[in-house]
Amino acid sequence: MNPENQAPEDTEETNNSAPAETKRILVVEDERTLALGIRDALTHAGFEADVAHDGDGGLEMCTGNEYDLIVLDLMLPGRNGLELLKALRQKNHRVRVMILTALAEESHVLQCFEAGADDYMTKPFSPRELVARINAQLRRGTSTADASIPIPQIDLPNGVSVDLARLEIHRDGNTLLLTPREGDILEYLVQNHNKVVTREDLLRDVWNYRNPNVATRTVDIHIVGLRRKIEPDPAEPTLIQTVRGKGYRWYA
Ligand code: CA
Repeated sequence: MNPENQAPEDTEETNNSAPAETKRILVVEDERTLALGIRDALTHAGFEADVAHDGDGGLEMCTGNEYDLIVLDLMLPGRNGLELLKALRQKNHRVRVMILTALAEESHVLQCFEAGADDYMTKPFSPRELVARINAQLRRGTSTADASIPIPQIDLPNGVSVDLARLEIHRDGNTLLLTPREGDILEYLVQNHNKVVTREDLLRDVWNYRNPNVATRTVDIHIVGLRRKIEPDPAEPTLIQTVRGKGYRWYA
């Protein structure tokens, strides 16, 4: 035993000094002052941030770069935010997407979640909350070596298998893709299989919403999307079970 070759003890000091990979964020926002404000807030929080001022420019930058997350405005010149999001998901681009918009109607929120957005914030917003929500998203599911993914593979009774590390579902010889947020939810349900998970639990622990009274529809729309991908019959779900008036329970 040569003590000099031993890995350093897992102390707080070594944790803090471990070089963390800088996360890259793209801000797509046509209001230039706001875009720069967001970029500064993100840079201050330790991210590397780029800015695009219209939808086409944003899509181009996503294609040429590896971003960890996109902060996406909806009302943009040219290709709008929703079209940009759809184009990304059509290309199987699974970057996390945080919508940041003045559009606060539920129909807009639902449209975006259906198109594969991971989170939705309305303007006016607090930059601190934006950073907190981005951190919550990036903390989870970013690396297969991450201890937050103890269950990379789930085999379902209907022959469907879920690879949480790759965010893939293998079903009838086909591969479907999960969005990062769907992966987070599934992982959370599986980890908490012995209890009923409420919408508030999900909003607090998966979305990191500080005020989980808002936007419980957010959860429902994601559950619908997940069921469509994994349930044998999404109309009669058996894997993600509804517990009336309470929330959801994972079957196992
Ligand atoms: Ca705008």
